[in-house]
Amino acid sequence: MNKSILLVYPEPDFDKDHRFGYSLQLLYLSSSLKDLDFKVKFVDYSVEKFDEQKFHESIDNIDCVIVELDAFPLKRSANVSNGFQIAQLTKEYRDEVLTVAIGKHCTLVNESIPVFDLTVSGEPEVELPRIINGFLAGGEIKNNFISLGTIADLSRVPFADRQLLDEEQIKGKRLNKKAHLAPSALLETSRGCPGSCSFCQRKGWDKKLRFFSEEKIYTDFQELIFSGINNIWITDENFTANLGRAKKILNKFAELKGTHSLKIAISSWAKIDKEFISVAQKAGVSVISFGVESKNRSILDYYKKSIDFKLLDEILEEADRVGVFTIGNFIVGAPDDDEETIQESLNYAIHSRFDDVNVKLLDYMIGSELYEGLPDKVKEGKIHLFSCSENGLSKYSKSELMAFKSDFVSKFQKLKRIKMLRKIKDNGTPYFLSSQIPQ
Ligand code: SF4
Repeated sequence: MNKSILLVYPEPDFDKDHRFGYSLQLLYLSSSLKDLDFKVKFVDYSVEKFDEQKFHESIDNIDCVIVELDAFPLKRSANVSNGFQIAQLTKEYRDEVLTVAIGKHCTLVNESIPVFDLTVSGEPEVELPRIINGFLAGGEIKNNFISLGTIADLSRVPFADRQLLDEEQIKGKRLNKKAHLAPSALLETSRGCPGSCSFCQRKGWDKKLRFFSEEKIYTDFQELIFSGINNIWITDENFTANLGRAKKILNKFAELKGTHSLKIAISSWAKIDKEFISVAQKAGVSVISFGVESKNRSILDYYKKSIDFKLLDEILEEADRVGVFTIGNFIVGAPDDDEETIQESLNYAIHSRFDDVNVKLLDYMIGSELYEGLPDKVKEGKIHLFSCSENGLSKYSKSELMAFKSDFVSKFQKLKRIKMLRKIKDNGTPYFLSSQIPQ
């Protein structure tokens, strides 16, 4: 009889107000498991409320439970403690079920997690189904930690099994939010980034830039169009890491989508050109999120980031002209940050053509160069440390920095409100909402 697997995305520790998200990794894994004739069930506790009784019922005929432990800076916040609880409950109820932990957290921590039978670091989409097959066929688990590393050739990753997602989830439903978007999807075209930002945790799991084949991307994109998707979030850390390739893909998207109503959101560094903006707009890109971090030169040096602000101004002006929304991402809390440098960044943001800003408190996160450079005794037992006086990393307390952050966002949004409303009036909302599902 075919073996059965339950894929679990545990409930996040808290609800971050993000636009949209789900686990592409579990959907890829589902496809590879089905290729080996496993029966697959899926539950996402960032969408469905956890109920212990129902969970017990869901593992009644299951041979293996795979739990994805997500890293905390990602969209849905960490879910590690709830993931541990899933493993414990599985064992309490049915000790014979194989429990496996996967995900960015496992890659960053890179050691066995005792509550699971097996911890897998690295990218599991290609190799893990075969390994599980071996264990379920009676193979002995000699070592309960496996490191799979990264998948060098991304053409080996199967298409995401989007059939696992229900109607409400693709319209943005999550625990504390009703479905509010037109049908939406995630799409991945690359992994990794050639940037060297010292705060970036992504370096912990993606040291090398890798691309999905264009053929695969276009097939996936066409499938999304045929299935009536109106919003696509490209999940790449930096979609424009190879600018020529990014333009080529978007030109093809423009051709493939034809007259279909589509809005696309991407993340990009600022090393692009004006031409990219018009190419993006024709493909349906409606939102570009840029990492700026600070306007102050010495703080940018600390972050190992270089930005050509003159070029960025031209890019933002072009985005305004063609109606693409732009978001500037900033960080407060570098050791040299003070009221003056934060004000310098705020002044820049206000006078720039950004439509919105995200401001974060600097976090020394496992996997990042900043975290790795901390003395062992400072980071002992911690996978991240906020930059604040409590941790000896800033002259300001966490609450003072949080106040700078809120002040930055509220002053910016107050002063830019009219511009934003005008832009929405001229171009529509940045994403299609459920109330405006286009025909
Ligand atoms: S550009 Fe973005 S993804 Fe790339 S290293 Fe910097 S923060 Fe990380």
